[in-house]
Amino acid sequence: MDTPRELEWYLRDHFFKQAGKGRPQLARSAIAGEMVSVYLRYRDYDPQELGRLISPVIDNLVSNRVLLQDEDAITTSSALFRMQCATCYYVSYLVDAEARACQRCAGTNLHEFPKKK
Ligand SMILES: [Zn+2]
Repeated sequence: MDTPRELEWYLRDHFFKQAGKGRPQLARSAIAGEMVSVYLRYRDYDPQELGRLISPVIDNLVSNRVLLQDEDAITTSSALFRMQCATCYYVSYLVDAEARACQRCAGTNLHEFPKKK
């Protein structure tokens, strides 16, 4: 079973990738269905079941001001950027308002991912 942390990672990944495709705003009611169709990880989930699981994750991110919600419309509070931890190699997606710290180990030695040449 998924942990909320894994779900949150995929949710942030989804926002990051959709923004890259020119869709910075997503419909809350459609997010779970989109994730079922986009991610192999969630392919076998019923969209309603995933929606039930992801709802508290979205609520938490809204209360932390990572996501902004206006009725059904959800955006990130700034563009997400992708950073990799130099200690554990975990890739984090962060908004401007968040501390520059790894979301797995809280390490603060992060670099851009993928690394610039
Ligand atoms: Zn780390």
